[in-house]
Amino acid sequence: AAKQSGRNQYAFFSMQMNHQLQQRIETIQGVRTALDQGHFHLEYQPVVDLSTNRIRAAEALLRWNHPERGLIPPGLFIPVIEDSDLIEPVTQWVAQQAVRDLMTLQALKPGFAISINISGAALHQESTRDFLTDLKQREQVPDYCLSIELTETSMIRHLDDCRQTLKQWKDAGMNIWIDDFGTGYSSLSYLHQLPIDGLKIDRSFTRDLKPDSSNSLVATVLTLAESMQLQVVAEGIETDSQLECYRRLGSRYGQGFGLYRPMPYNDLKALLETTDEVHTATS
Ligand code: C2E
Ligand code: MG
Ligand code: MG
Ligand code: MG
Repeated sequence: AAKQSGRNQYAFFSMQMNHQLQQRIETIQGVRTALDQGHFHLEYQPVVDLSTNRIRAAEALLRWNHPERGLIPPGLFIPVIEDSDLIEPVTQWVAQQAVRDLMTLQALKPGFAISINISGAALHQESTRDFLTDLKQREQVPDYCLSIELTETSMIRHLDDCRQTLKQWKDAGMNIWIDDFGTGYSSLSYLHQLPIDGLKIDRSFTRDLKPDSSNSLVATVLTLAESMQLQVVAEGIETDSQLECYRRLGSRYGQGFGLYRPMPYNDLKALLETTDEVHTATS
């Protein structure tokens, strides 16, 4: 009888449960199933040297192919699993898969680099910090070929911990990039405090570029980067006009649908096999 009433109570709660919460729970259960059943894969979006049109590297982007709902973009489930215990295995799955792919591509194009996105919750886990360091060493990933992308907001939250983590990754030969630069935090003082290799200019800046203007905001970011010896990738380049703007302003690297869309691993491999236009990373 107790069991029966428990079930009724659950039914009552589930009716009362707001839609959002129910969706969260479904997403979390779904991610667990996706991990178990292999419904995740990575796509890669090339990063291009704008001065030579050569491919410099590629960014790994997580894809969830849901058997009923189709492809679910990371923006819909990463934020949901951030405060669950799933962020750890998902981060590890991404890193492991990306490194596996990277090592095959290394045979093809020595020095080719791949970057992975690490979310705030994972950044502050000791397990993630050591997992990446161990993976890099165990798989003998060459130095400067594995990059970590982090957002400003995720780093600022625990600056002291972050400094230690980034130092450990740097010492192990990984590169650190700030993703979506310019969207997260109004102070730049943290740039001096962290061992950062480069900035990825958020695509909102790209959207606001004007062909006949000095685009002083982006120009200022590029000057800042140069003075701090930081590399720059301009994100979200969709049009020729945006590409020209960045070339003129002097952004060395770019990424966007107008250059290459994210693609399955096999397509990236084929692209690298058929093109000499690959510029290998050295720092
Ligand atoms: P992000 O790291 O800033 O990645 C760039 C996003 O912009 C990708 O969306 C990419 O497909 C999209 N994009 C690239 N070029 C263009 C363009 O020209 N125009 C437009 N409109 N979009 C462009 P995606 O793959 O949906 O990823 C969204 C975000 O999800 C990523 O932003 C990243 O923050 C996060 N993410 C993706 N994969 C992972 C992952 O493996 N782990 C974690 N923690 N986060 C991930
Ligand atoms: Mg990124
Ligand atoms: Mg980005
Ligand atoms: Mg983004």
